[in-house]
Amino acid sequence: MYELHPEDEMLHLTLMDGQARVLLCETTRMAQRCADIHHTTPVCTAALGRLMTGTAMMGVMMKGEGESVSVTVKGGGPMGTLVAVAEQGNVRACADNPRVELPLKADGKLDVGGAVGHEGRISVVKDLGMKEPYIGQCELVSGEIAIDFANYFTVSEQQPSLVALGVLVEGDTVLKAGGLLIQPLPGCEESTLEQLELRSPMFAEISRELAMAPKEQLAEEWFRGLSPTLLDRTPLSYRCTCSRERMERALISMGRRDLQEIIDDDQGAELGCHFCHSTYFFTTAELKELLEKATH
Ligand SMILES: [Zn+2]
Repeated sequence: MYELHPEDEMLHLTLMDGQARVLLCETTRMAQRCADIHHTTPVCTAALGRLMTGTAMMGVMMKGEGESVSVTVKGGGPMGTLVAVAEQGNVRACADNPRVELPLKADGKLDVGGAVGHEGRISVVKDLGMKEPYIGQCELVSGEIAIDFANYFTVSEQQPSLVALGVLVEGDTVLKAGGLLIQPLPGCEESTLEQLELRSPMFAEISRELAMAPKEQLAEEWFRGLSPTLLDRTPLSYRCTCSRERMERALISMGRRDLQEIIDDDQGAELGCHFCHSTYFFTTAELKELLEKATH
């Protein structure tokens, strides 16, 4: 039915003539890039991979040019704060401590909830360009991320949602990563909801499913009889948008007093990007120029 794409990509489908929306994606390369940049342990690879996949779903649902969404998870666990930002299909992420190691859970799975923690919040900021940003948040349920996204959509955006996020890791290698979001839309019939609930166990192990069949084939199998229609496909990648100009703006926004202190030290300033570890160096002479532009 669909052309196969091996790269990271989001499929956007509808079921039953628009009764439900489905986003199904593979994010293996994105999760691997994140693991390579942050030298994550397997449990942190899984946590950040799941967070990026959920954030990518929000990112592709925002249509406007220059719009972005950032999702912050603060669960009180040893990983500290996790942040992912998506500008359409371009996603980046970081965590305070990406090197957390924890024993596997009793079921043999990575203890993502233990690394993230579950006493805290998931916060979402949607930057809508010129308009006021949209800010939403709700309590974490488990720190396992997928259920936290589902709860966020349901509670904070009043949009009941089924979310599956998965990252299959072996050492430093991401074998497969991906996710699925199903949202019933206004006018969704009871029989369609029942069908989706009946089928939900099929989606639970999303990364293992993706390891066995391409997402296009899974979409056909999972939604057979529900008239799945492909609306759109969006390429996904790990991409940071930091630049020297952005770092200059960050320095200027520090304010005159702090800038003057750095200038007086006469060591220059080195700024690092949390998302890609690029560094930007500014000489004292350059800092003096930036001081001219600072307004407070
Ligand atoms: Zn960067």
